[in-house]
Amino acid sequence: MDKITKTAALPESAREFGFYVDGAWRGGRPLFERLSPGHGVPVTLIPKCTVEDLNEAVAAARRAFEDRSWAGLSGADRAGVLLRAAAILRERRDEIAYWEVLENGKPIAQARGEIEHCIACFEMAAGVARTLHGDSYNSLGDNLFGLVLREPVGVVGLITPWNFPFLLLCERVPFILASGCTIVAKPSEVTSATTLILAEVLEQAGLPAGVYNVVTGSGRVIGQAMAEHPDIDMLSFTGSTAVGRSCVHAAADSNFKKLGLELGGKNPFIVFADANIDDAVDAVAFGISFNTGQCCVSSSRLIVERSIAAEFEQKLAEKMTRIRIGDPLDEETQVGAITTDAQNDTILGFIAKGREEGATLVTGGTTLEIGGGRYIAPTLFSGVGRDMEIAREEIFGPVLSSFHFDTIEEAIEIANDTIYGLAASVWSQNIETALTVSRRVRAGRFWVNTIMAGGPEMPLGGFKQSGWGREAGVYGVEEYTQIKSVHIEFGNRAHWIK
Ligand code: NDP
Repeated sequence: MDKITKTAALPESAREFGFYVDGAWRGGRPLFERLSPGHGVPVTLIPKCTVEDLNEAVAAARRAFEDRSWAGLSGADRAGVLLRAAAILRERRDEIAYWEVLENGKPIAQARGEIEHCIACFEMAAGVARTLHGDSYNSLGDNLFGLVLREPVGVVGLITPWNFPFLLLCERVPFILASGCTIVAKPSEVTSATTLILAEVLEQAGLPAGVYNVVTGSGRVIGQAMAEHPDIDMLSFTGSTAVGRSCVHAAADSNFKKLGLELGGKNPFIVFADANIDDAVDAVAFGISFNTGQCCVSSSRLIVERSIAAEFEQKLAEKMTRIRIGDPLDEETQVGAITTDAQNDTILGFIAKGREEGATLVTGGTTLEIGGGRYIAPTLFSGVGRDMEIAREEIFGPVLSSFHFDTIEEAIEIANDTIYGLAASVWSQNIETALTVSRRVRAGRFWVNTIMAGGPEMPLGGFKQSGWGREAGVYGVEEYTQIKSVHIEFGNRAHWIK
């Protein structure tokens, strides 16, 4: 491993945050102390809000929705706020990246790149705010004219996870705001800082009070109360399939709130013998190691044509050992720390299970001693049976399982042999092969001869048990609207009672 050269110092003491309701900062709650996953030292103190705090935030979001201070603005005015927020984010990029690294453990260079993407999300959403429109029917006869309006859904609850705290937030917040909705956000308790910093940014950009509120605390208390809340009109949840399912029950048992769910994945990376092998090797090494594999679209199942499998796995193992794992504050680091103790245990548990079930450990499988943090080497298992746990469960860590196929039908069948359908990738120089696979594999995001490419124009979301609805792009704004049809009659009514 390369020598560690820190480019930023750790904070001298943990930074204390308040929570944000109705345009004002509040405090006075017990505090959750967050330790940096990469260093093991306290970095932030986050309020443990109560359900009463949540109720006040929902009430503020409701008032701000009903008083039309946001929904009643023109698209151009909403776009103005979003563009100012983008400019402020650009100025504060390094600071936001720093807090993201301290709470999440991802490499600083990667965090900066993610914030660039967040800025692009705000700019994209500003464009959609101006172009969002409905439809009209001029075909209903001379006496009737039909308008189809898109109206904002109302108060949106937003529950985000700890793996991409700011990126996932910004793939949602600007698009929700573009629609005219108001927001109560609840970040994961372990990564709340940057969601709170966004409140400062939006206030400075001119967002009216009550439109964006942040209530911090645990998922079991605040998240569950949001899912059950009778005055939240829509809930956008990103996280585990198990909690996603509990949100569906809570929505059904409360007010039938609309749901957007982005859940787990077990994503196939399919390589045909005619692919550019070196590119595919590099891409899958990246796809499984990026964000330490704590990534819903990580390439966790390699499905490689048998004739090239041995050569492919050997090249891949060699590349995986050269990934620079280290201190997340080091500019050279490619893979940082595992975000939580619980996730560390989960990943190590799956590695042990893979060995127990008889898969061959080709490389990795070990923990690394770096500073006071939690680190796991990128891991490759070959000879993985399709019924093994490591083949079926979302590990959410840098653990790749390799499967072999002989025909295109078999490749498609293995790829679809999962309850999930979040993302997939195919590698082939043959356009017929690539297009056939992209049409037949059931996944919400598909990459041909690339991986994790995209921009805020492209919608995100899953098939099957990977979720409901789409985020980002035009679709991501429309998701937060509901359709109203307006019928306008001309001339005199033909009376029913003569
Ligand atoms: P969770 O689904 O528990 O957490 C995701 C978010 O939901 C967090 O903000 C969490 O808050 C909140 N939450 C927790 N419980 C509830 C609840 N009952 N009602 C409403 N919200 C709740 O994921 P974990 O952190 O436990 O991770 C477990 C597994 O989930 C991972 O191993 C991975 O497989 C998957 N996962 C998938 C993600 C994805 O992007 N698709 C993201 C994260 C996890 P808090 O953290 O404060 O408890």
